[in-house]
Amino acid sequence: MAIKTQRRPYTVHAPYICRDCKTKVQKRDIIAGRAKEIDDTTCICPDCLTKPKKPDPKSQDQIPTVRRPMRQKPQAKLVAENETFIVMVAAAQDDPKMRAQLIGIAQLDNLHREALINSLVSDMLRKGKKMAPIASALELLKDDNVARRTIEVLTKR
Ligand SMILES: [Zn+2]
Repeated sequence: MAIKTQRRPYTVHAPYICRDCKTKVQKRDIIAGRAKEIDDTTCICPDCLTKPKKPDPKSQDQIPTVRRPMRQKPQAKLVAENETFIVMVAAAQDDPKMRAQLIGIAQLDNLHREALINSLVSDMLRKGKKMAPIASALELLKDDNVARRTIEVLTKR
């Protein structure tokens, strides 16, 4: 059984054959990026290249119709939104004892700061609802950026 080899002159480029549907593909399609070259003779024709990429209509149905909330919370905004925090920092600017306390908390490393704030907050909440706003203001200090800015504000002047 002889294997027939069709030799072609070097000057003529053998057409690419689509791996999937076996159609001939012009080299210019590959150069143009319409077809994807696999090797010297094999490619994926423009049709096959686009077919599998078509999204399954079912998956389109699965795209949630509920919009993701646009609002992210940049930390700066969060701080600005928490009036109590601002009031607390402002009060600390006038009250040396409170100021030292806040700076002390803010200067702790993340782990210790969080632990301290957690215990302070639960203490406050145990004392009643009145302390809840201050507790939530303190919670903000868990954030590194907030802590850093608090130190900036309170050590300035
Ligand atoms: Zn094809």
